[in-house]
Amino acid sequence: MAGLSDLEYRPTMARGTAVAVVAAGVAAGAAGFRALVKSRRWHLYGRALRRVPAGRRVAALTLDDGPYPEHCHEILDVLRRRRVRATFFLVGRDVEAHPELVAAIRADGHELANHSYSHRRMLFMRADTIATEIRRTDDALRRAGQTGPILFRPPNCAKLLGLPRHLHRTGRPMVTWDVEPETAPGPAADAGVIVARTLAGVRPGSLILLHPMDQANAATRAALPGIVDGLLEQGFDLVTVSELIAEAGRAQARGSA
Ligand SMILES: [Zn+2]
Repeated sequence: MAGLSDLEYRPTMARGTAVAVVAAGVAAGAAGFRALVKSRRWHLYGRALRRVPAGRRVAALTLDDGPYPEHCHEILDVLRRRRVRATFFLVGRDVEAHPELVAAIRADGHELANHSYSHRRMLFMRADTIATEIRRTDDALRRAGQTGPILFRPPNCAKLLGLPRHLHRTGRPMVTWDVEPETAPGPAADAGVIVARTLAGVRPGSLILLHPMDQANAATRAALPGIVDGLLEQGFDLVTVSELIAEAGRAQARGSA
């Protein structure tokens, strides 16, 4: 994965700072602590990849959870008709439960990525459980045909302590995002709002977070065609996250040549 080490990561924190941050979070109350844990800015050992520095209009759609049978094909149809590819962060147990869906996603050229095995919060999880959650999902994705480095994104973006340490030891970035139109700046239940937020927030190198597979997210599914069409009209190429990373590596190599 060329250029991975040179990308735009948030700085890591020292161990002592980590303890102080946790203590401060607890002191600030449960809500503050939850916000701290979910924050993409705080990660103690591993490195978070939110966006890559890209020299042109290129972005990645990242679709989390599943695969679930109810809406998978509908989502694939939207992407196929527009000839764009996305990165699917899939849950290992659902990958094992629905190999036919995983095969369909892969057959369309999308990237398969790891979103843990059980989608349990990885906060305060034992180190060996974290390793097992990630390895079982890697294995399931490899059996489904995914080759090369497998990208990882934690469920609920909980990233304190054990998980960043594991990722650091295994040399993997924590793939997050810089555009989350379903939830930021607040929950959106309207497809038009989700489209507008995406088109307003995207920048070259952006990673866009969406959950179209989840049963409850009809607004996201309704927004998906408008998101893709709008981004294409703005001149964006939509690529997989691994392609985005490779693109950034090439841009950097040209810049330093
Ligand atoms: Zn998830």
